[in-house]
Amino acid sequence: MTERNTTGAAAPADTKTLKVALLGAGNVGAQVARILLEDADVLAARTGARLELVGIAVRTIDAPREVDLPRELFTTDASALVRGADVVIELMGGLEPAKTLILEAIEHGATVVTGNKALLAVDGPSLYEKADAAGVQLSYEAAVAGAIPILRPIRDSLAGDKVTRVMGIVNGTTNFILDQMDTTGAQFADALAEATRLGYAEADPTADIEGHDAAAKGAILASLSFHTRFALEDVHCQGITSVTASDIAAAKDAGFVIKLLAIAEKLPLPAADKGAAGEARQGDAGESGYGVSVRVHPTLIPRSHPLAAVHGAFNAVFVEAESAGELMFYGRGAGGTPTASAVMGDVVSAARRMVLGGPGRTETTAGVLPVLGIDAVTTQYYIGLDAADQPGVLAKISALFAENGVSIETMRQTVHRERGADDDGAPGLAELRIVTHRASEAALAATVQAISGLDIINSITSVLRVEGV
Ligand code: NAP
Repeated sequence: MTERNTTGAAAPADTKTLKVALLGAGNVGAQVARILLEDADVLAARTGARLELVGIAVRTIDAPREVDLPRELFTTDASALVRGADVVIELMGGLEPAKTLILEAIEHGATVVTGNKALLAVDGPSLYEKADAAGVQLSYEAAVAGAIPILRPIRDSLAGDKVTRVMGIVNGTTNFILDQMDTTGAQFADALAEATRLGYAEADPTADIEGHDAAAKGAILASLSFHTRFALEDVHCQGITSVTASDIAAAKDAGFVIKLLAIAEKLPLPAADKGAAGEARQGDAGESGYGVSVRVHPTLIPRSHPLAAVHGAFNAVFVEAESAGELMFYGRGAGGTPTASAVMGDVVSAARRMVLGGPGRTETTAGVLPVLGIDAVTTQYYIGLDAADQPGVLAKISALFAENGVSIETMRQTVHRERGADDDGAPGLAELRIVTHRASEAALAATVQAISGLDIINSITSVLRVEGV
């Protein structure tokens, strides 16, 4: 027999009840509590279980909240709440007490849902292992790209495919800043001030602008895409603080836009590593001879690339897989209500599994692919430099590129006589913007070092990677 609820969804009368503990009622937690209370009947019909919110742990019970929630649900004893729950939703943020509470939940056999990318970046591998060992599920869709369903598609929908590359705009703050610079011509500091004024950047924006937040998400994306656990220290990380208005303008002029990308890609192992890695690996058949590089840096992409159309604080992840080809996932990367959607997706999915039974564990680490450093990457490069405007300069620079095995795709020169020339007719300043063909990190570094030693070079203003051409 079934009973019909207010939305017309049908829920069986004998529906079992799952006790849900919520840790945190801030931006995201308050919206999760609202959905659990307002949509209880819909969720019961969709999961086959009633999700009973048994308590909400906070620091200050009477703190003002975005949502009006029953006072009797609030507690400051998070530990007691966790011990009596079937599902624990951790939305406190920070490392402690979040980590201890998640471990307590795992020990008690509770399913855990979290959006805590900072904790996963530091302790993810040990938490996943503890959850696996205890046979409980630990889900974290909200930790990468807010509302965008990206982890489950990679983990489940692409489980029968082989991902070759993932490129993501996974930090809304930096995308907003770079987009402001691109559309208004603003300098970095002014665009950051605007992001702070509008609430896109936190009072201390370091984790965003230095790329640490994107690196944490890159490690998670790489782990799921390549069935191998990557930690934060495996990610090469460079932020956007050195990107100038002049870089953005030059990129624009050449048909590119600059985005902070997290890129995880499968690459052939360098020859020297092939034997050892092949013998040591017990992972996926057909993956021998490959490793994975994970990196975060400002990147030039053609203005026609799908990721170039991601404006403001939006996020997007571009996935390339052997059979599926190219896929793009786009949406809001933050915000209480959008992020609550991702959290609730994990909660419903976990509850369904608890109702139906079956294994909780759906991630695999069978890949065991070696981690490759940035040295293993070959990419195109954009180099901006200021040189003396005198005969033979271009020839000298071109010769150094050739000597180091880096081939030039395009070279543009803009002469500023007023910036360099003096009354004696000394040379003016030539701004050179060079885009290379694919080259290794080592070859590029050697080229840049050789050029910087030329007496005709005033400064090398930027060295940025180019992708998606
Ligand atoms: P928030 O607004 O700062 O809320 C944190 C909540 O946790 C507050 O209710 C706070 O209690 C409670 N809390 C913090 N420390 C506690 C402690 N020691 N004991 C008990 N309660 C404690 O955070 P948020 O923006 O909702 O983010 C929550 C998590 O989601 C974070 O891990 C964040 O990285 C992740 N996330 C957020 C977004 C987003 O757009 N906001 C997007 C993706 C992922 P009081 O209210 O009493 O202070």
